Amino acid sequence: MQKITIAKGDGIGPEIMDATLKILKAAKARLEYDEIQIGEKVYLSGNTSGISDEAWKSIRENKVFLKAPITTPQGGGYKSLNVTMRKTLGLYANIRPCQSFYPYVRTKHPEMDVVIIRENEEDLYAGIEHQQTDEVVQCLKLITRPGCEKIIRYAFEYARKYNRKKVSCFTKDNIMKQTDGLFHKVFNEISAEYLDIETDHWIIDIGAARLADTPEIFDVIVMPNLYGDVLSDIAAQISGSVGLAGSANIGSRCAMFEAIHGSAPTIAGQNVANPSGLIRASVMMLTHLGQSDIAEKINNAWLRTLEQGIHTEEIYREGESTKKVSTSEFADAVIENLGQKPKKLKAVEFNGRIQFEIPEYQRPASRKKELNGVDVFVDWKGSDPEKLAEKLQKLNGDVNLSMITNRGVKVWPNGFEETFCTDHWRCRYERNGHPITNKEIAELLAKAYVENVDVIKTENLYQFDGERGYSLGQGQ
Ligand code: NAD
Repeated sequence: MQKITIAKGDGIGPEIMDATLKILKAAKARLEYDEIQIGEKVYLSGNTSGISDEAWKSIRENKVFLKAPITTPQGGGYKSLNVTMRKTLGLYANIRPCQSFYPYVRTKHPEMDVVIIRENEEDLYAGIEHQQTDEVVQCLKLITRPGCEKIIRYAFEYARKYNRKKVSCFTKDNIMKQTDGLFHKVFNEISAEYLDIETDHWIIDIGAARLADTPEIFDVIVMPNLYGDVLSDIAAQISGSVGLAGSANIGSRCAMFEAIHGSAPTIAGQNVANPSGLIRASVMMLTHLGQSDIAEKINNAWLRTLEQGIHTEEIYREGESTKKVSTSEFADAVIENLGQKPKKLKAVEFNGRIQFEIPEYQRPASRKKELNGVDVFVDWKGSDPEKLAEKLQKLNGDVNLSMITNRGVKVWPNGFEETFCTDHWRCRYERNGHPITNKEIAELLAKAYVENVDVIKTENLYQFDGERGYSLGQGQ
């Protein structure tokens, strides 16, 4: 027996969890449950994190968590519990298989069988946001080398274990050369260790368009957090329904399994929701726990039920489905089919424990870091960049103003009057390509204070082993 933590969540959560637990019991899953409360009730009781200390303790002790969807109350500063859990427990990999079950579930993509592997902890989800001027707010996009290495290695290991042939990488590194550029670079480095697997890279916009149009050309796709969030919902929906997809959140110590959809409050309490997302999440959990025999049994019975045309309301189609069933009736139909394999759809076979270790990140020797200059961000309500340059050149000494940009576009020297400017100016100081010191930056800022320049932040411009570690101004 293995003990896991479960939470029935909010909205349709209790109904789909009861259906899933009934199937796990009938399939003789070797599981014991520790139930915790999370979500709306906990939030509204005054706990803004949505989870109690005891609940954390249970998850950390049992290490495996099967979670029904929860409702995050709107407004009131409640933090998303899902994001908190993924990050606090180090669940760096989010795996979302999106497969179509044509002709039993209607879809425009009969051949679709894509697994989206989404980085789960960083990117714009670091949640570091600031208002800096009246007109400008910012969100920091953090991409780290350890983060990239872990998720990309995970995608390749996943492909090997599940006999997948290709891993694609989606980024926008033609624009974000540092952040998405690092993700792509690490993808290229790691793919060299997996020569048995085909690889390609897509700029996210055309990659997403092809995924929506011809998903059958993709196999496993790995991508940074935000792109993965958006595209995995699209992929699940076009495969048939968001109600069908399960997901795994994997870390080196804990794992959390859930449906990809939310708590669907408008259909809650009516016994009409499709429990398939959570059922399939529980199948992923069983393979993770090494109970592949049970996982196989449940998955095949579930496929058999689908192809019998026994469907819950949202996938039921007159003339194509044979029987419209409730949540609990669907679970009963799956139980009835335990021990059977699908006759038309392809049966699954899981060979043993499908869990794999990703080696701990090894920090390489530090590269030679040189300080090349500093970007000083200034709040200024004027409109003529020449005037700002005049003011800022008063700070010149050994380190001089070389460029001003507004929203990334160069506006000085030689700007265009057509360029729209806000009150947020990036002012770059350098010494003709020669290194500067932190002391010189401090002196520059002291002068800015004397000259009444409203400095809102600075960013140092580094070079690593001679390679520029910052972007140029657009138009520079
Ligand atoms: P949702 O996924 O709950 O619902 C989107 C649509 O899909 C609705 O029309 C809903 O009725 C339908 N749907 C979803 N699951 C279904 C199922 N199993 N069977 C049949 N139909 C289903 O998304 P939403 O409406 O944007 O969010 C509702 C709440 O869920 C929000 O509070 C949100 O914060 C939360 N949420 C939670 C999670 C999670 O816990 N992992 C994920 C997403 C959203």
